[in-house]
Amino acid sequence: MEKSFRRLWAVVILVAVLLSACSTRPVTSEKPALRVLAVESFVADMAQNVAGDRAQVQTLIPLGLDPHAFEPTPQDVAKIAESNVLIVNGAGVEEWLEPVLQNVDGQRLVIEASAGLQSRTAREGEEAVMSPEEKADALCADMKGLVATEEKVSGTERASATQLHDEHAPQGGAHEHVLELLTLRLNAQAGNRFGGFVLLDVEEAGDTFIAAQAGELTIFDAAGQEVEIENTLPLACSGLAQAWVAELQPGEYVLALSNFANETTPFVAGPMAGHHHHHEGDPHFWLDPLSAVHYVENIRDGLIQADPEGKELYTKNAAAYIARLQELDGWIREQVKTIPPENRLIVTNHESFGYFADRYGFTVVGTIIPSVSTGSAPSAQQLARLVDRVRSTGAKAIFLETGSNPQLAQQIAQETGLHVVSDLYTHSITPPGGNAPTYIDMMKYNVQAIVQALK
Ligand SMILES: [Zn+2]
Repeated sequence: MEKSFRRLWAVVILVAVLLSACSTRPVTSEKPALRVLAVESFVADMAQNVAGDRAQVQTLIPLGLDPHAFEPTPQDVAKIAESNVLIVNGAGVEEWLEPVLQNVDGQRLVIEASAGLQSRTAREGEEAVMSPEEKADALCADMKGLVATEEKVSGTERASATQLHDEHAPQGGAHEHVLELLTLRLNAQAGNRFGGFVLLDVEEAGDTFIAAQAGELTIFDAAGQEVEIENTLPLACSGLAQAWVAELQPGEYVLALSNFANETTPFVAGPMAGHHHHHEGDPHFWLDPLSAVHYVENIRDGLIQADPEGKELYTKNAAAYIARLQELDGWIREQVKTIPPENRLIVTNHESFGYFADRYGFTVVGTIIPSVSTGSAPSAQQLARLVDRVRSTGAKAIFLETGSNPQLAQQIAQETGLHVVSDLYTHSITPPGGNAPTYIDMMKYNVQAIVQALK
């Protein structure tokens, strides 16, 4: 009873101190308090080290959650609205953020921690981003069961291009993408070839595919400018022979088809759903402590911009923390020396260890998910290829981040005798008392687990 009274008094006194602190501050220099929000927990930890006791850094994504799969709730949006400094990893991890920032109230400085770092490209022998064949397989999977019903007659010239879809809005929400397979009737061209013109309405920015039989396609935007086709994929489903992929903005486009062998072709167009990486780059810079130094410098500079009066403190704190990161780098190098060079092979869940591997001389033999994100699943061929690579390279272990599904890893382990390490902390730190309550702890824990499995 007495104890709780004392605590109450302590609170009252603290409130009084705070009130007097506020009231004595001259009104002219009054600035809103720093409200710093970091999207990922490891970024928040770095930022807290820089901010010291000048600001309490909040974390947006709950600990343990996969940032690649994160979708903000209304409460998350409210947290962003309350912040006046928002720190993000950047490099494509927070694809959900831009529309949120466009609609959220308030003004804030957004610090992109990875700004200025160059994305790596997959090295020879690594399971790179999806091959054209694999993208084609994924497209055909999306189109499974589609039957061409409606027939459309294409226009004979650009000005008479035919509208592909009727003007009716789809029922139950405009964001439902329903792929529609049409039969497109083309017009005779010279040399016993066929061609025609159709109009394509694009509602969402991003990679769009157009699939038909073999032929030629040119895309014109509303201004009549030709749009670059990023790549063409060979298809073998629903009577389709190829898909053209272009990055399109919302708007109307004229598709000019020519050099088709037949008078009719099956035809379908739509967004490259599920596999549209606007950013094909690898955002996992933070798993290399020397890139993390760069994060800290960006965070320091951003905090100084938001709060110039704290410059001295932020500069001092950042320098001290950077020294610790450099120490961490040295420690990792010593640890890695205990692994025989021929064993420095890693297999991971998705493509997250590239920068780490580059820095410390590991080879990424393969990944279960052949992507820099976690939102896709491997095909049977991809898994079979990974099993082959594990066998031929003699990789000893597969490393999974906590929270990932171990099923495929266990399947690969059964076939190859690979050891499964399933508790790396790569995309989130842990609560205090856990294995990785800070970014530095997280890196140390992972390195110890890797050394243990490979030496
Ligand atoms: Zn990742």
